[in-house]
Amino acid sequence: MSENKNVSYSPTDGLCYDPNDELYWQQESLNKELERAFEICHGCRMCFKYCDSFPDLFRFIDENHDGDVRKLTAQETDQVMSSCFQCKLCEVQCPYTPRDSHEYQLDFPKLVHRYQAQKFRKNGSQPSLRDKLLSEPDQAGALARASLGTANLMNRNKAHRWFMEKMVGIHRDKLLPDFAAKSFSSIAKSKGWTKDSSQKVEVVLFQTCFVENNEPNIGEDAIFILEQNQVSYACVD
Ligand code: SF4
Ligand code: SF4
Repeated sequence: MSENKNVSYSPTDGLCYDPNDELYWQQESLNKELERAFEICHGCRMCFKYCDSFPDLFRFIDENHDGDVRKLTAQETDQVMSSCFQCKLCEVQCPYTPRDSHEYQLDFPKLVHRYQAQKFRKNGSQPSLRDKLLSEPDQAGALARASLGTANLMNRNKAHRWFMEKMVGIHRDKLLPDFAAKSFSSIAKSKGWTKDSSQKVEVVLFQTCFVENNEPNIGEDAIFILEQNQVSYACVD
């Protein structure tokens, strides 16, 4: 590709989201897809508000490389990839996904997965303790509920937060949400909001980790609104 030719938005021959496919693990193929995805996102910019990945990406391209996505350094790419915490909001909002059968076949969170998988395999390293903890919010929620409120108190304790920062890498000043005494799924079960699969409903409510473990009242409010509007629903077990 000549230096001044635009990066095409069309899938490269490195497109792959399947870890069982050999192509998934080829670094050159991944690099082609990263460059293409970054070019598309830089032109679109819709996801600037969800996390640090996109603002960092746009800033690096605009301020460090005069708009040329091909000049991103490995360190900049790593920072963009490492800031993703897999919330999937960009995938839900993106109009260019495989889910929408769009020709660009862009799935940004899956691309991050691929990058991280290659990185871990290459370095022979394991995810950090922080990554492990943050990737299992339901397990963390169950442990916090078992502590009968102690976890919430500890999260506000300065000495404990200092220790957590040193051990786990979560900044001592980061405001952490309280864990609820009951998970949303247990509330839903006790109130009969979960239905068996033979019952047809108009809406199935898939709660987020935050609703499940921290703010189940948001889910309860959603059910209230559905009931008020006589919409049939089911919660997942
Ligand atoms: S992920 Fe999709 S919607 Fe988000 S910035 Fe990139 S192209 Fe735009
Ligand atoms: S999935 Fe990752 S890149 Fe996409 S909005 Fe969430 S944190 Fe950001």
